[in-house]
Amino acid sequence: MENPGFGRFFTDHMITLRYTEGTGWHDWKLEARKPLQLDPATMVLHYAPEIFEGLKAYKLPDGGATLFRPEANARRFQKSAERMAMPNLPEELFVESCRALVRADREWIPSAEGASLYLRPFMIGTESALGTRPASDYLFCVIASPVGSYFKAGAPAVTLWTSESFTRAAPGGTGFAKCGGNYAASLAAQAEAQREGCDQVVFLDAVERRWIEELGGMNIFFVFDDGSLQTPPTTTGTILPGITRDSLIKLMKDMGLTVREEPYSIDQWQADAKSGRVVESFACGTAAVVTPIGQVKGRKYGFTIGSGGAGQTTMRLKAALTDIQFGRAADPHNWLDRLF
Ligand SMILES: *Cc1c(COP(=O)(O)O)cnc(C)c1O
Repeated sequence: MENPGFGRFFTDHMITLRYTEGTGWHDWKLEARKPLQLDPATMVLHYAPEIFEGLKAYKLPDGGATLFRPEANARRFQKSAERMAMPNLPEELFVESCRALVRADREWIPSAEGASLYLRPFMIGTESALGTRPASDYLFCVIASPVGSYFKAGAPAVTLWTSESFTRAAPGGTGFAKCGGNYAASLAAQAEAQREGCDQVVFLDAVERRWIEELGGMNIFFVFDDGSLQTPPTTTGTILPGITRDSLIKLMKDMGLTVREEPYSIDQWQADAKSGRVVESFACGTAAVVTPIGQVKGRKYGFTIGSGGAGQTTMRLKAALTDIQFGRAADPHNWLDRLF
């Protein structure tokens, strides 16, 4: 619990809930965490009807605990389900399941600096059949894992790889849905990045191959020398609408900062980093919170952002967000969902 890493240890309990066509959701259970029994013909093993979420429970200074905007995860889960032709899970069932698991496993919320309890709600198609059609039966499940920092502690910034071989999402595809298939398809690009000495991939759009979209599991922001910020718009359907992204945009507006949701090209980023017009860049998501981007590499180029380390605005935004999440600052948007 002092240094849990990310997603290596799991708590004692899990939530399970079944869906059957005609009956709807039934058999909600809080039970001891145990392996799932699946027939080899279970649909998720073949055609991947699988969606998931990621949110955290934070320990508060007074010993209580809170979730952060769980209803936003519930709504996104519904959008992912709709795209994958999976059943709609009512928001209240999603949120109550998360709350119940954290309450049962409250001893598992770490109190080390920056640590939290990561919740992983997910849904899979459980019908045994090899026909290509939506499954008739589903399992919704929530598990939890105490986590520390996502990237190795002490690293000042990540290096990104711009892949020319791979894209993540195409218009009309599943880019906006949080489905396991998006991740499976991104792993060859991630392996390529690692061979090139980089930490993460920054994906470009699949049509023109020049507009910056996001990382494999994090959204991206650029900070300009006039103090303004920019992030790619999620209206294309090819970018996952991050709750961290949305929260940071609201915090930027609270701080009086200008933030644009507008397309930004890789060539422009390179030119602006070189001219000093872009002074910082960062990635954000629930797992990795706010992560400075130090360098960007591609087949034919490489450039450094600012000093190559963590920038001032990046760290100020990270502090503003985590101070709310850990109950060290006021919560003007009512984002915290207090559990006990
Ligand atoms: C989950 C995810 C994010 C970040 O979303 P948050 O709600 O901020 O955690 C960004 N991109 C992708 C592809 C994701 O799956």
